Amino acid sequence: AKQKGRGATVFYEPSMATVVAEHLQLEADLQRAIERQQLSLNYQPIVSLKTQKIVGFEALVRWSHPQRGFVSPAQLIYLAEKAGLIVSMGQWVLSQACQHLLQWKPQFPELYVSVNLSEIQLRHPHLLQEVKGVLESLKLPAFSLKLEITESNLMENITHTTELLRQLKALKIRLLIDDFGTGYSSLSYLQQLPVDTLKIDRSFVQNIQAGNKDFEIAKTIINLAHSLSLEVVAEGIETSDQEEMLKQLGCEFGQGYLFSPPLVETEVMNFLNQNQ
Ligand code: C2E
Ligand code: CA
Ligand code: CA
Ligand code: CA
Repeated sequence: AKQKGRGATVFYEPSMATVVAEHLQLEADLQRAIERQQLSLNYQPIVSLKTQKIVGFEALVRWSHPQRGFVSPAQLIYLAEKAGLIVSMGQWVLSQACQHLLQWKPQFPELYVSVNLSEIQLRHPHLLQEVKGVLESLKLPAFSLKLEITESNLMENITHTTELLRQLKALKIRLLIDDFGTGYSSLSYLQQLPVDTLKIDRSFVQNIQAGNKDFEIAKTIINLAHSLSLEVVAEGIETSDQEEMLKQLGCEFGQGYLFSPPLVETEVMNFLNQNQ
C-alpha cells in the first residue's frame, strides 16, 4: 500500500500493462524451466484399502520458481495451457514418471504410475504415438501406466475423446476419470468410455459422515462404478474415520495425507520398503 496525502491509504493497483508483462515473463520463465528440466515430480501413494499395500503412485508436477518460489500446480497448469507449453510439459511429465517407475519396478513389479492429462494434451494429435513411444522405449508394460482424465476434459469433444481412449485402451493402458462427481457429469458417456476406474473427488471425502449427503453421494458413486465393473479410488483421505467409511462402502483404493503426502522421488523407495 502507498501513502497518499494525509493518512489515506491507497492500494497499489498494477496497471493492465504490468499484469500482462508479468504474465509474459512468467510464461518465458516456464518455457526455460521446461527446457532446463527445472520442474520436478512428486509421487503420492495409492493404497489398497483392503490390504493396505501400495498399488501405485500419482505423479504430481512441481515448479519452484527461482525468484517466486513454489508455484501451485493449478497456476502452473493454467500458465502452461495459456502459453502453449502444456504439450511439451505433459510429455516431460509422462516420460519422467515412466523413467522413475522403471527404477522402482525391479523390486515392486506390480506398481503403476498414474499421470494426469490436461484437455489440450487429449486433443493433441500425437498423444497416442507419444504414449506408445514412451512405453516402447522403456520396455514398460502398459499396465504400469494409468492416465487420469477429468470429467470436464471428457465432455469437450466426446466423439474424439471416446475414439482416443479406445485406442489407448487397445494398448492396455488403464484409464481413470478424475475428480468424479464435480464435472459436467453425464451418465450416458460413462457407459461409452472405456475407463477402468473412477476417482471420487476430495470434496465428497472431506466431510463424509455416516448417513450425511456426502456419504450418500460417495455410496452412489461407488455403487455406480461397481455396477459398471469399474474400480474406485477415493482421493484426499485424511482421517481413519474417512478411510473406514469408504472401506465399508466398498471403495477399493485410497489416496491422501492419512497414508502419505506427495513424496519427492528420492523418498519413494524408502517409503515402499517401509510400507510393503
Ligand atoms: P488432482 O489430480 O486432483 O490431484 C490431487 C491433489 O490433491 C494434489 O494437489 C495433491 O497434493 C492433493 N492432495 C492429496 N492428498 C490430499 C489430502 O489428503 N488432503 C488435501 N487437502 N489435499 C490432498 P496438487 O499436487 O496441488 O495438484 C493440484 C492439481 O493440479 C491436480 O489435482 C491436477 O489436476 C493438477 N496437476 C498436478 N500435476 C499435474 C500434471 O503433471 N499434469 C496435469 N495436466 N495436471 C496436473
Ligand atoms: Ca489426478
Ligand atoms: Ca483428483
Ligand atoms: Ca480433486
